[in-house]
Amino acid sequence: MRSVFQYLRPASLEDAAAWLEKNGASTVVFAGGTDLMPSMRKGEVACDYVLDISRLEELKRIELGDNLLAIGAGVTYTDLVESDLIHAHAPVVAAAARCVGSEQIRNVGTLGGNVGNASPAADSIPGLMAHNTRVEIVRQGRVLTQSLEEVILGPYHTSLKPGDLITKFLLEPLPSPYRAVYQRIGRRRAMSIARINLAVAAKVDSSGVIEDFRMSIGSMTPQPYRAFSAERMACGRKPEYALFAEIASTATQDMIKRAGVRSSTAYKKPAAEGLILKSLSELFNAPTFEDGDQ
Ligand SMILES: Cc1cc2nc3c(=O)[nH]c(=O)nc-3n(C[C@H](O)[C@H](O)[C@H](O)COP(=O)(O)OP(=O)(O)OC[C@H]3O[C@@H](n4cnc5c(N)ncnc54)[C@H](O)[C@@H]3O)c2cc1C
Repeated sequence: MRSVFQYLRPASLEDAAAWLEKNGASTVVFAGGTDLMPSMRKGEVACDYVLDISRLEELKRIELGDNLLAIGAGVTYTDLVESDLIHAHAPVVAAAARCVGSEQIRNVGTLGGNVGNASPAADSIPGLMAHNTRVEIVRQGRVLTQSLEEVILGPYHTSLKPGDLITKFLLEPLPSPYRAVYQRIGRRRAMSIARINLAVAAKVDSSGVIEDFRMSIGSMTPQPYRAFSAERMACGRKPEYALFAEIASTATQDMIKRAGVRSSTAYKKPAAEGLILKSLSELFNAPTFEDGDQ
């Protein structure tokens, strides 16, 4: 059954936080509404108040500070794709944003909503994880930060409490000479949910050795995660096919351990290995074994 609720549009972030401090238990936060509206239509969300934060300018800022890139929770995918700061300091976030839904969805869907919804297949999350992102939350009038891993606890399950408001994401910038790649496999090219998605970022030193390597995987497991065992394997080594194959194999085994063996594993295992190889080849601008053989 659809619920009857009162629609509110606060004039400022301060007003929104003050409202939520008092009425958080009976209020649902509305950003772009692209996840929320379908859930409300299905009668899955019951509340007395819907608090529309989509016009709060304070949540739409993208700022580069002292070794920190701050992205407001109300920043849309289109904003990310169009931002020079994001392209320069978090290109993998821009690349992921470009893959989301359709132009209409990218124009209104926000980063805060993607994290608030916590879909295992969320496109923004692997990229944010590669940046060691921390989430700034206003809870009961106080500001706190949690890592993305602390916020996303499972499929559609977060650590957010009623009345919590995500205000921004704090990313470690990864400017050039870092390189980054985002790849996903979906059923179709556009308007499809990712079946497997992957963000990789790396820095290679002047002698051609990998100094830093980050890889986050989504969609295959209850929640996206950093593939630390594969990351450790890469540091201190040269980017070449033997290493890529080791990483693909280790990361895929780890993924199966986390997700458990399912009927889809027979398809997903080779698909994941292939996607990892392709991403690493693109990241390091190195041919895959097959390409090198031709
Ligand atoms: C046709 C279609 C295609 C889609 N394609 C993709 C896709 O390719 N990839 C993808 O990842 N997603 C996709 N989505 C899902 C959706 O667009 C994204 O998850 C989007 O980022 C949600 O943002 P929103 O602003 O619309 O969130 P909303 O729907 O407004 O909110 C989602 C949830 O987060 C909470 N929330 C929102 N903002 C905050 C905040 N600041 N603080 C606390 N809680 C908050 C809300 O209360 C709600 O629970 C698609 C959806 C549709 C309808």
